[in-house]
Amino acid sequence: MLDKAPNGKVSDLLNALDKALSAGEVERAVDLFQTDCYWRDLVTFTWNIKTMEGKEQVRDMLKARLADTKPSNWKIADGEDASEAGGTIESWIQFETEVARGFGHMRLKDGQIWTLLTTMSELKGHEEPVGFDRPMGAKHGAERNRKTWKEEREAEAAELGYSRQPYCVIVGGGQGGIALGARLRQLNVPTIILEKNERPGDSWRKRYKSLCLHDPVWYDHLPYLPFPRNWPVFSPKDKIGDWLEMYTKVMELNYWGSSECKKASYDEKSRDWTVVVQRDGKEIVLKPKQLVLATGMSAKPSMPKFESMDIFKGDQHHSSQHPGSDKYKSSKAVVIGSNNSAHDICAALWEAGADVTMVQRSTTHIVRSDSLMELGLAALYSEQAVQSGVTTAKADLIFASLPYKILHEFQIPVYNAIRERDADFYNRLEKAGFLLDYGDDDSGLFMKYLRRGSGYYIDVGASELIANGSIKLKSGVDVKKLTEHSVILSDGTELPADLVVYATGYGSMNGWAADLISKEVADKVGKVWGLGSNTTKDPGPWEGEQRNMWKPTQQEGLWFHGGNLHQSRHYSQFLSLQLKARMEGIATPVYGLQKVHHLS
Ligand SMILES: Cc1cc2nc3c(=O)[nH]c(=O)nc-3n(C[C@H](O)[C@H](O)[C@H](O)COP(=O)(O)OP(=O)(O)OC[C@H]3O[C@@H](n4cnc5c(N)ncnc54)[C@H](O)[C@@H]3O)c2cc1C
Repeated sequence: MLDKAPNGKVSDLLNALDKALSAGEVERAVDLFQTDCYWRDLVTFTWNIKTMEGKEQVRDMLKARLADTKPSNWKIADGEDASEAGGTIESWIQFETEVARGFGHMRLKDGQIWTLLTTMSELKGHEEPVGFDRPMGAKHGAERNRKTWKEEREAEAAELGYSRQPYCVIVGGGQGGIALGARLRQLNVPTIILEKNERPGDSWRKRYKSLCLHDPVWYDHLPYLPFPRNWPVFSPKDKIGDWLEMYTKVMELNYWGSSECKKASYDEKSRDWTVVVQRDGKEIVLKPKQLVLATGMSAKPSMPKFESMDIFKGDQHHSSQHPGSDKYKSSKAVVIGSNNSAHDICAALWEAGADVTMVQRSTTHIVRSDSLMELGLAALYSEQAVQSGVTTAKADLIFASLPYKILHEFQIPVYNAIRERDADFYNRLEKAGFLLDYGDDDSGLFMKYLRRGSGYYIDVGASELIANGSIKLKSGVDVKKLTEHSVILSDGTELPADLVVYATGYGSMNGWAADLISKEVADKVGKVWGLGSNTTKDPGPWEGEQRNMWKPTQQEGLWFHGGNLHQSRHYSQFLSLQLKARMEGIATPVYGLQKVHHLS
């Protein structure tokens, strides 16, 4: 038989899939998949974020969703070509459903589908006003008492939340709330973002003085408005704060600064929320249909409780409250914890001249920033990637196309290579007593982030200070208690201290639901984040997707949004489309709503 080029093979497969699905023949469609297959769907078929693993799950989903979804027009994406390497054929694909246009990615092995990603690009009839459809801005002609753009914006700001209710309220105006707000604005979903800080960007500004983003610029763009080409690789925190403030303004978001959400409750009958807000000292009640908690997954401090903390005479605070090192130049500082914040704060205190000790209770994964950039991120998020045509949108989708179930298999070789390259660095750290790990299965940083959101440091300099003893280290110990002027460790060591920083991480986001809504609702939705990988701090059973993030929860009308800048950018697209569809009354039957296995 004539060997067909990759385009031909993909087209044949897509034609067969199209025919089977159009005819409603689920078995014929399932036969096109490998036994060991993955179909990751971002809201096109499932109105959920869901990965079907194996033929049986694909079959079950299609049986439940095919008739409604009515997919059609599967083809290689316009302007793209399939490619083949190492026995795998890859292609960008496009398709339609009854209500949406979709874009995706497919990998074929032995002529069958190994991985399939289907994502919703836009809802038919509700497309964003871009390109030929962009707004006119000016109104040509003559009109009595016409309103300028500024007057219209002012009128909207005066009405929304007062004489007219928003459809959606986002609690939390950090990068997550802002990115989602921008998408909802383009989709014409009336939205108010509530932020207790005064200005957009304050959540970054208020963090410790020395902080710069740990992720490079290519990973960090916001939707619609990428950073300029001269933007620094690692944004200083105040610079990212200013960018967020500018972005909020130019994207015309209804952003209520100095507005704290005090409480919220859902009326199951009228199916709307009552949201009580304290705005500039006045109470305002909002009645949205949808409530998004974008209150930060690194924002609910986990503060440990140690014996006699109350008698300590020096300064003590959680890392999120750490003001910076200026005040502590000649202090004896003890930093409890050994992840990113602990390292950054120790290094800044050492730079300021303080006598610093880090207390490390258990192992930590360290990866040097340049190794991470070169071996971990370069293919997708780097200047080289940009040069070779990998746009941010494509990078996000390639990343999304790798199913979580097997993602660690792609990551392990990367971290093995990093270990080899930086063997000397790791040896020196171990010699200094630092307890290292590379993840439970050696899959490194990103899997740790997805599974537990903690347990690592991207090294930008502090590790050298630990290796050479400039930052003192006590490892394999816990804090036993505090005295008036010291910290006593579990091995009996006494560390004199004027400052104790608890860099002990953050709690699950459903804690916000407990604070703002009720313990019942927090328990009803359960733990937020993690994959159910049954690794440290990510208990099973396997979920296949991040718990509760960007998708329907067990509480109607309640959503969680956030994560790093990449996730805020990427997943805000799918959350905004889910919200828009509901506002427009498009049926959104959720397939495979997650069950709750853990409360926090
Ligand atoms: C030290 C540190 C370094 C990090 N470095 C990076 C990095 O390099 N790259 C990266 O992508 N991510 C990084 N992250 C992770 C993550 O991107 C940030 O935490 C980011 O700020 C998350 O954005 P967010 O909008 O989800 O939450 P936040 O920025 O935490 O915003 C949540 C907002 O909600 C507001 N809020 C809370 N409760 C209420 C209420 N009741 N009413 C009104 N407003 C409320 C808060 O004031 C806050 O502004 C880092 C996190 C930390 C802590």
